[in-house]
Amino acid sequence: MNIHEYQAKAVLSGFGAPVPQGYPVFSVDEAVEAAKKLPGPVYVVKAQIHAGGRGKGGGVKIAKSIDEVRAHAEAILGMTLITHQTGPAGKEVRRLYIEDGADIASEFYLSMLVDREKSQVAFVVSTEGGMDIEQVAADTPEKIITFSVDPATGLMPHHGRAVARALNLSGGAAKQAGKLAAILYKAFTNKDMSLLEINPLVLTGAGDLVCLDAKMGFDGNALYRHPDILELRDESEEDPKELEAAKYDLSYIALDGEIGCMVNGAGLAMSTMDIIKLYGSEPANFLDVGGGATAEKVTAAFKIITSDPQVKGILVNIFGGIMRCDVIAEGVITAVQDVGLKVPLVVRLEGTNVKRGKEIIANSGLNVISADDLDDAAKKIVAAVEEAA
Ligand code: ADP
Ligand code: MG
Repeated sequence: MNIHEYQAKAVLSGFGAPVPQGYPVFSVDEAVEAAKKLPGPVYVVKAQIHAGGRGKGGGVKIAKSIDEVRAHAEAILGMTLITHQTGPAGKEVRRLYIEDGADIASEFYLSMLVDREKSQVAFVVSTEGGMDIEQVAADTPEKIITFSVDPATGLMPHHGRAVARALNLSGGAAKQAGKLAAILYKAFTNKDMSLLEINPLVLTGAGDLVCLDAKMGFDGNALYRHPDILELRDESEEDPKELEAAKYDLSYIALDGEIGCMVNGAGLAMSTMDIIKLYGSEPANFLDVGGGATAEKVTAAFKIITSDPQVKGILVNIFGGIMRCDVIAEGVITAVQDVGLKVPLVVRLEGTNVKRGKEIIANSGLNVISADDLDDAAKKIVAAVEEAA
């Protein structure tokens, strides 16, 4: 789960990290009132959406007066902000953050994430912070320094010095970097974050380090122990299909392709996506209905897939172990009768009660293409989609 920048800054500030003073607002009048509470004379009006790249997309504006704050708030609030992270459809801006303008001497990059291979917390640090970090990573990767912290020992003073060194800091600023690294590590681990990105981390004219932007993601499986974080959820920023799937305890992730997949078991779901790609198409989603799905769950899953206008064909690939193929077949038939079927559907069943499952589908009178194995199924759905196009 992700949260907004202003919420992430409040979390960081709670751990003692330096962030600028600011106020989240939902209207232009509130924006003006918020600016009046700030010291000025420079204010920043920032769109709050769950995506980065807002600055380049026109979602972060500097204001030199209260009137300018009003003008920028009017322009940004309600706009559809398109950035390299929102996709071409963009995101509607529903909240703003009105922040004190910082006197920036240098912009750095600092992020932390879980290194799953090492089972450690990785730090990624660069002197080249700001709005072009993707470009830096592509052109001059040597300017990005990474190291990881073993959670068994936790953050040690030498890790703090490594951050300071990576940022070419000395004296008081280096000390601040060490202190900040310890604060960020504590926040990251205490709150079960999966990602924390400070870009930019700035050095001010007065020589202080300040977190000027903050992006925070949390491990969904650990949210139950952080009710304070769960409260920050903004469902309007999340994919409605993913929210619906969560209600039925389905593991669903929307993707960009055209073939909707309904599969049981994450491994089988991954290989189904791979084989669709192998035959020249792309999956529209990852969907694992789980080992012991009921007919209701299968129906819900099917409805979520068909509600996606990107889906040009559906592949149901189920191995009946704990789950019985006849239950799956009934769930699919019920769903098709409920929501109709406007795209080709290939069903591949294998395992417990497979004969009965295939009979149910064959006798349903519905236009379902039956497949015998994964290879056959993938070929058939890709061909059917091409034919329909
Ligand atoms: P995004 O990463 O989504 O583009 P940022 O919060 O990083 O949004 O803002 C973009 C740029 O705007 C920053 O790199 C920084 O140069 C400037 N900026 C952001 N907040 C402030 C602030 N409080 N004071 C001065 N400049 C700011
Ligand atoms: Mg940023």
